[in-house]
Amino acid sequence: GKVILKNVKKIYDKNVVAVHDFNLEIEDNEFIVLVGPSGCGKSTTLRMVAGLEEISEGEVYIGDKLVNDMPPKNRDIAMVFQNYALYPHMTVYENMAFSLKLKKVKKQEIDAKVKEAARILGITDYLQRKPKALSGGQKQRVAIGRAIVRNPQVFLMDEPLSNLDAKLRNEMRAEIIKLRKRIQTTFIYVTHDQTEAMTLGDRIVIMKDGFIQQIGTPYEVFNHP
Ligand code: ADP
Ligand code: ADP
Repeated sequence: GKVILKNVKKIYDKNVVAVHDFNLEIEDNEFIVLVGPSGCGKSTTLRMVAGLEEISEGEVYIGDKLVNDMPPKNRDIAMVFQNYALYPHMTVYENMAFSLKLKKVKKQEIDAKVKEAARILGITDYLQRKPKALSGGQKQRVAIGRAIVRNPQVFLMDEPLSNLDAKLRNEMRAEIIKLRKRIQTTFIYVTHDQTEAMTLGDRIVIMKDGFIQQIGTPYEVFNHP
């Protein structure tokens, strides 16, 4: 779905302005990367789209709905975090099935979706394992699988590869490029890594000190820095 951020601002208490006047229209199925140094407001922006952080001023639309006052569970989004945030007591299968169970999706349908996502992500052999028995890369695949079974309109990723070593990071980056071709969804991806931004983004939003410094395709950003 389309995502629109209109004059969005975030003020934490003690008057810390984390995001100033953020304006962006994201097209359906576009892959947007928010990039910039630590503390520039990327994560806060993403969390406002997710509904995990209150919007101080401005408007956020997902599809054609104004979501400012909508709780996260009612937004048609899925989010993947840096630390995976898997449920430790559940198996991989149960982690991936959980949100669909809450939505009272039929068991057969859940089973088909979990197995399809597991196949796409190459984690079929680990479905019965608990997260603690997985490597970092495997955990991140499960986190992505848990998100895609929901067919979200918007897929939010907050530094998903930052906890992986360089080799796995490259591997998972390629995996995300493949995934992107397979599923119809709008991506908003946060990273401090310029290579990730340049290789993944249809458009890159460069942030600094809470402001948007530049928006453009990788080509535009590379040639007119
Ligand atoms: P980034 O994701 O680019 O590293 P963040 O969005 O996490 O940046 O942070 C932006 C700014 O907001 C930083 O100055 C940070 O210290 C501040 N900040 C983030 N979360 C909070 C919070 N819960 N309370 C107060 N200030 C915060
Ligand atoms: P219940 O909710 O009664 O515990 P289950 O969740 O075990 O029932 O659902 C049974 C079906 O769901 C099985 O036929 C199987 O296809 C699938 N399923 C459930 N858990 C798993 C699992 N850990 N691994 C593989 N398939 C599972």
